[in-house]
Amino acid sequence: MTTITHLECAACGKRHEAGQLHNLCECGGPLLVRYDLDKLREGWSREWIPSGPTSMWRYAPVLPVSKPAAMISLGEGMTPLVHTKRLGARIGSEDLWVKDEGVNPTGSFKARGLSCAVSMCVELGVKKVAIPSAGNAAGAMAAYAAAAGIEAHIFMPRDVPQANYIECRAAGAHVTLVDGLISDCAKMVASRKDQEGWFDVSTLKEPYRIEGKKTMGYEVAEQFRWQLPDAIFYPCGGGVGLIGMWKAFAEMEALGWISSKRPKMIAVQAEGCAPIVKAFEEGKPRSEFFEHAETIASGLRVPKALGDFLVLDAVRQSAGTCIAVSDEEMIEAAVELATDEGIFAAPEGGACVAALNKLLASGFLTPQERIVIYNTGSGLKYLEAYSPRFPR
Ligand SMILES: *Cc1c(COP(=O)(O)O)cnc(C)c1O
Ligand SMILES: [Zn+2]
Repeated sequence: MTTITHLECAACGKRHEAGQLHNLCECGGPLLVRYDLDKLREGWSREWIPSGPTSMWRYAPVLPVSKPAAMISLGEGMTPLVHTKRLGARIGSEDLWVKDEGVNPTGSFKARGLSCAVSMCVELGVKKVAIPSAGNAAGAMAAYAAAAGIEAHIFMPRDVPQANYIECRAAGAHVTLVDGLISDCAKMVASRKDQEGWFDVSTLKEPYRIEGKKTMGYEVAEQFRWQLPDAIFYPCGGGVGLIGMWKAFAEMEALGWISSKRPKMIAVQAEGCAPIVKAFEEGKPRSEFFEHAETIASGLRVPKALGDFLVLDAVRQSAGTCIAVSDEEMIEAAVELATDEGIFAAPEGGACVAALNKLLASGFLTPQERIVIYNTGSGLKYLEAYSPRFPR
């Protein structure tokens, strides 16, 4: 079970108590969970991991939940790390792997974050949750809230993929479709939550979703026998998965499980919504609100991310980069991935393949480097995006 000690503000460093509901720090910074890694180092061996559950809960000592009964699991995590058979050879990447998050419950890696966050809601006695979402977080929230028997209030853009709308309704969530983006949805949650008695589960405004997402970093290390790859491609919306993996690497080093070597972290965005790429290119520590954000990769349609400074820090410290691709490029690349490997990816996963093509062409990466692409969701949730490519 958990070895949580406290939470720490990522912006000002202030310490906050564990075992309580939290949103942001008084300073507006997101809170990160801290564990007693020194003690764990003595009492927990990475050799024991494979005998744990076949889900992300095999990492329970570095997750925040303290009561086993509070754990709401649908089998999230321990997703396949697939060695490419044809794609890598064709595009000139000899050691190319796909971490396929599309096989998670609800078809995206959002299941990891919400399994953890909803479990903490159960542990801390929350009865009603609210979430603004670009799509997949809503679907996962609805599913885990249903499994936990708590009430879910979901706010998402009116033009979210049909799959996201239907899955939320099917799971009995209260759904409000908003004429606007996730940022507008977030404002609606913020303005109503006090009066309605909702707990706000907005990404990073709540400290536990990132803990679930970080398990993507633990798993890739475990699956490569505790050697991290040379580069990781991550489709970056709010960037929480990337921040989470970066946190996981630091934790594993403190546990004595991995060396100080880090992969180049590569944040991939859509040309129609690339605030973090812009900030990276301009050498700025934070991004600015990206006006008129538009892309079919709904998970990447985040015009301003609360954790932008943490993404930019991780990318820079790792000697990685940020890169944008067009919607056409991501669909094309996703279809190639499906054709070569049988993995039908979300456009976000396709974006990573397209970005890899560019970084091999530019010489930023070499054919010999070990590369992992995160396909964060299933193509089956984005049929509208693929339909024009395959008219009947
Ligand atoms: C939410 C989402 C993303 C972006 O995730 P962050 O960790 O917030 O950057 C990427 N891909 C898919 C499929 C998503 O649902
Ligand atoms: Zn603070």
